[in-house]
Amino acid sequence: MARPTQAIVDLEALRHNCRLARDLGGDGQLMAVVKANAYGHGAVAAAQALEPLVSAFAVACIEEAEELRNAGLTRPILLMEGIFEAEELEIAAQRDFWVMLQNHRQVESLESASLPRPLTCWLKLDSGMHRLGFSLAESTALLERLRASDKVADEIVLATHLARADELDNSFTPQQITAFRQHTQALGAPCSMANSPGLLGWPESRDAWNRAGVMLYGQSPFPASHPEADKLKPVMTLQSEVIALRDVPVGDTVGYGGAWTAERASRIATIPVGYGDGYPRNAGNGTPVLVAGRRAALVGRVSMDMITVDVTDLPPISIGEPVELFGQAITANEVASHAGSIGYEIMTRMLPRVPRRYLGQ
Ligand SMILES: *Cc1c(COP(=O)(O)O)cnc(C)c1O
Repeated sequence: MARPTQAIVDLEALRHNCRLARDLGGDGQLMAVVKANAYGHGAVAAAQALEPLVSAFAVACIEEAEELRNAGLTRPILLMEGIFEAEELEIAAQRDFWVMLQNHRQVESLESASLPRPLTCWLKLDSGMHRLGFSLAESTALLERLRASDKVADEIVLATHLARADELDNSFTPQQITAFRQHTQALGAPCSMANSPGLLGWPESRDAWNRAGVMLYGQSPFPASHPEADKLKPVMTLQSEVIALRDVPVGDTVGYGGAWTAERASRIATIPVGYGDGYPRNAGNGTPVLVAGRRAALVGRVSMDMITVDVTDLPPISIGEPVELFGQAITANEVASHAGSIGYEIMTRMLPRVPRRYLGQ
């Protein structure tokens, strides 16, 4: 039998979450963010499941866009950081990739390019994230300049990114929304602000285009329960099986570095998943692991290929018992909270060694 560690990816759950994102966006068009291998879920499989439900895809770089095109996906694909080299512009025009323009060098490359047809462009504005984009004060002049260029297709979308939309009681998001609206209202261009926390929690951020990422994969961007986010269904389940069991006497330690000491006679189960699969090495003692349907605690260090779990309090466990690392009963967010991380990273970091098995294809 093959190594039992695998990521089950439920495409019906993915579609469910996508329909929720679309409904929240009202008349706005939905862009499915499938960067970073669709947050670890498999970009092609995820995009194929989502294509009938969305207007466009978004990725971080042209290599990711080409993977989708080569697999036969036909919707427009936005390069959210724009081009890194001028040569990408011609490929973008040929393959219907849309480009974000986020700095002056990109604008100059575009203006001096020779292209088979005008490119669909989004203009990125910096409303407070201070990572990418032009200042709001520049927006009017830049938009005029782009509208005058024959390299730029007619409809230019004005975009910005929210820095703290996952903090529902923080006033930074309304400040960003207000500043962005003040500078763009009179420009007569479609706008895009909302990411997942925007779509779910900040109705004022919803607009002509909404960009949903993490919510498609069923993870809430919020730390607490939320009426809309609680409707999401987790898409990825990382599962495995118990491959070894032993009794460890009081005072003995488990694993590398003796990082956990048995304070009572303990029953320890070994699971074949580790940081070589993307399971976080800094998941500490006490990280929950579901063994035979019950919660148990990770003990000792995560090694490359294995972890150890204290199953002393569980009914008798045998080799082959099913294990869930995260997915249904334990969320990626919960594992993340034991590893100094966030659910986004826990899903995205799943390595190719973990086979993906797709349900609902
Ligand atoms: C990744 C990303 C998104 C999606 O964010 P989520 O929080 O995962 O929904 C949206 N817009 C931009 C610019 C991004 O980089």
